[in-house]
Amino acid sequence: MENVLNKLIEENKYLTKYGKVADYIPALSNANSDDIGICIMDIKGNVYSSGEYIKKFTIQSISKVIALMLAILDKGKNEVFQRVGMEPTDEPFNSFYKLELHEEGKPSNPMINAGAIVTTSLIEGKGNEKFTRLLNLIRDITGDENISYNKEVYMSEKSTSNRNRAMAYLLKEKGLIEGDVEEVLDVYFKQCSIEINCIHLAKIGTFFANKCRTLNGDTHYPEGIANIIVAIMTTCGMYDFSGQYAVEVGIPSKSGVAGGILGVVPNKYGIGVYGPSLDKYGNSIVGYGILKGLSKELGLSIFA
Ligand code: GLU
Repeated sequence: MENVLNKLIEENKYLTKYGKVADYIPALSNANSDDIGICIMDIKGNVYSSGEYIKKFTIQSISKVIALMLAILDKGKNEVFQRVGMEPTDEPFNSFYKLELHEEGKPSNPMINAGAIVTTSLIEGKGNEKFTRLLNLIRDITGDENISYNKEVYMSEKSTSNRNRAMAYLLKEKGLIEGDVEEVLDVYFKQCSIEINCIHLAKIGTFFANKCRTLNGDTHYPEGIANIIVAIMTTCGMYDFSGQYAVEVGIPSKSGVAGGILGVVPNKYGIGVYGPSLDKYGNSIVGYGILKGLSKELGLSIFA
């Protein structure tokens, strides 16, 4: 397996030149655009990795998966999806689509920023307690108590994110988010700044691949949640590229603008890929190339 991973990195590394590291959150622009890492873990816990798989980066939008899980655990599926849709969109991740249209307009899905701000607001707890619960869930899933957030990235996003701020106030005005807007935004910025590496992502993937069971079997969440998460990742996880990604790769995935991609192959593998050079949709350009190759090589498409 490690030979396959090494080969895929070699074959795809030229792609980093065709992408661009995110700089709309200034602190993200410090990343090295040539970095590439991958880790794949099967549901028995065997791990295979290559490249910069230990290097830490911020989770960004991949945190939306965990926020969705926690919101469903706290409020139930029906209440969550009354406030945020389940439909994919061909609008970009930071779109106001549907929010301004009419009274009933709600975010298309929980994987775009507007939808994620809603799900974050639905997490139980006051202010920072929401964040602590989300961080603890990630620590529990990965079995790593040391995971924390990157304060520089958090401050960088908090001080520049006028678009998310505008969106959150509009959502509040529409009655779609709970609680104080600034408190919700603060949790959202912090959750996006949580630092992980490819191994952590592979563990999160394995958790969902294994119907919400942690590797040591100590913690078991309702398995129905995995079905919802994996379905939403499949249809909405790669921004407005999710349809083509499903055709070309076929692995339920969620990407983040720091360059991470989380992959879930149900009943088989969890995958974490890192490459901060992004395509025009905001997905890791080399991550896409590697996952496409990996899917072909190991026959991982859920549609095959
Ligand atoms: N923190 C980022 C934002 O809100 C997350 C975007 C992403 O990873 O898609 O813009």
